Amino acid sequence: MIKVPFNDLARHHSAIRCEIDNAIKSVIDHSAFVRGPHVEAFEAAFSKLTHQEYTVSCSNGTTSLYIALRALGAGNGDEVIVPGMSWISTSETVTQTGAKVVFCDISPETHVIDIEALENAITPRTVGIIPVHLYGHPAPMKKIMEIAAKHSLWVVEDCAQAHLAMIEDRMIGSFGDVASYSFYPGKNLGAMGDAGALTTNSSTLAIHMTKLARHGGLTKGQHEIEGLNSRLDGIQAAILNVKIPYLKEWTNKRRRVAARYLNSLVKLDPERLKLPSIEPLCNPSWHLFVVKTNKRAELIRHLNRSGIQSVINYPRALPFLQCYADRNHRAEEFPNSYNLQESCLSLPIFPEITDHEIELVVSALNSW
Ligand SMILES: *Cc1c(COP(=O)(O)O)cnc(C)c1O
Repeated sequence: MIKVPFNDLARHHSAIRCEIDNAIKSVIDHSAFVRGPHVEAFEAAFSKLTHQEYTVSCSNGTTSLYIALRALGAGNGDEVIVPGMSWISTSETVTQTGAKVVFCDISPETHVIDIEALENAITPRTVGIIPVHLYGHPAPMKKIMEIAAKHSLWVVEDCAQAHLAMIEDRMIGSFGDVASYSFYPGKNLGAMGDAGALTTNSSTLAIHMTKLARHGGLTKGQHEIEGLNSRLDGIQAAILNVKIPYLKEWTNKRRRVAARYLNSLVKLDPERLKLPSIEPLCNPSWHLFVVKTNKRAELIRHLNRSGIQSVINYPRALPFLQCYADRNHRAEEFPNSYNLQESCLSLPIFPEITDHEIELVVSALNSW
């Protein structure tokens, strides 16, 4: 029997169900199904939320990455550096532009791109870097931007797991040229279907990305360039508009859950169970709470017996996915990414998790 679910979207939505029903009704009343006033309101609200000048809404977070890469000119003969551990969107969209994905290893502590590995991966063909704020922990953006400036590279921040994560008093997504967001239902800010967005402070990039997302033109009938159909649905925008005012509170709740896990589990032997580390001055969004253990199968069985769901994010690091098998990457090339794939386990963390459920997780881990 499940006592603590990994996530519970039904619980998440029940508190705001009435507002969401009304928002959907309003979209139907206005027949505003693709773009329209709800999408425009969303773009304005999201720019305000993320402290960026422009938001370009898209149909999902994967296509938003692709649009950013195209707008920045990635293509044949170019190399783009991507961290060894992420969701496949980060690398597959690079290949889709014609550019070559170059993987680089991650930090063994925070699991975001490793600065030394990043510098070693740069070649004369490198044009850009896609740091991923994995699990909601900020990548070291100040150092990344210094390296990018030194080598004249662009930077696209993959913020799909990191809405409202901060480095000092600065929001992630405000460091690079463009930031890419996903609103997949399970993300910290989730729609009820697929949705995504890009943010930037560059009006040139904003206009170019808008054109790419809308068949190459800003007005109907105009096609200055070839683009994509990557418009945001009115219903998804209206749902996101309901949720945006709650996001700060939900993020703070995730932070409190993480703090409780960290405080209650400090006494565990780190050789047996390694807790997530937080870099000084970073305030993660805690999309996931990922522990590491060499006895993962045993821990999963123990948690299952206690009715606690856990998930492996992700079972394979990017270089070792089947789709990159022709590259024959070896574990020794990306030791920290490989170690994470072998040892990571995500514990339940969501804004609505109860004190009792947190205690069940803590006591199950303490009795392991
Ligand atoms: C979810 C996710 C994406 C892709 O977003 P979709 O909206 O599912 O297309 C991209 N990068 C990372 C790191 C993600 O977690």
